[in-house]
Amino acid sequence: MSVLTVSNLTKHYRRGGERFAAVDDVSFEIAPAETLALAGPSGSGKSTIARLVLRLIEPDTGRIEFEGEDFLALSGATLRARRAKLQMVFQDPLAAFNPRATVARVLDDPLRIHDIASRAERPSRIASLLERVGLHAALAMRAIHEISGGQRQRVAIARAIATRPSLIVLDEAVSALDVSVRGQILDLLLDLQRQERISYLFISHDLGVIRAIAHRVAILDAGRIVESGDARAVIADPQSAIGKALVAAMPKLNRETTL
Ligand code: ADP
Ligand code: MG
Repeated sequence: MSVLTVSNLTKHYRRGGERFAAVDDVSFEIAPAETLALAGPSGSGKSTIARLVLRLIEPDTGRIEFEGEDFLALSGATLRARRAKLQMVFQDPLAAFNPRATVARVLDDPLRIHDIASRAERPSRIASLLERVGLHAALAMRAIHEISGGQRQRVAIARAIATRPSLIVLDEAVSALDVSVRGQILDLLLDLQRQERISYLFISHDLGVIRAIAHRVAILDAGRIVESGDARAVIADPQSAIGKALVAAMPKLNRETTL
């Protein structure tokens, strides 16, 4: 059974008075412990798909099935409960969190909101979450704005796994990081996936990163999936014009070696 099945998803917006499909009849599925990457140029609809899957926005038409349930039909307490299993990591954790909040506060929220640990248990849960993502437990007392970008993204990942999700949507989650930190975060994501069987919907404009982390890739152009398949096979021999252009834009080293 798939964790996520998206069928015929469409979302229109207006641009200069004209209605256009930012997401146009998109379908895909993700199996347990699988990473599906969405690739495509800026404006191709990647983030809109992420927001639709997370139900931050509602589609015009289409269906989203999450863990075998009609996700778009859920509301209230049931939706809140299921949301614990569907987490997200965005490009910029400084924008996602209150920069003055402590790391402990950021990690305490999901444990409290989803009633995962009692008040007395939460400090030790927070310490073990930090360790799981390769951070020292003492970092808990630091403010979000005081720690490095790489540390912040580890905190964002710790927050995402706090509720033991079955799927994490990552939208350009490593794009702002420099190359060495990016590699470490990708390794962490791979480790967590192996340990916890988490599925990832991994959004990136960077095929080098996708090649390092994804099992399958779907390439988007103007809201439509124009090509999809095994990530390495698609990147080695793209069939679509946009796939060819994205591969041509990769640094040569990344095309030939593993990150
Ligand atoms: P990507 O993440 O691939 O760069 P987006 O999903 O952010 O692309 O955007 C897809 C298209 O939809 C773009 O043309 C963008 O300008 C447009 N768009 C996204 N969000 C909105 C919105 N809230 N209102 C109007 N247009 C939007
Ligand atoms: Mg985007």
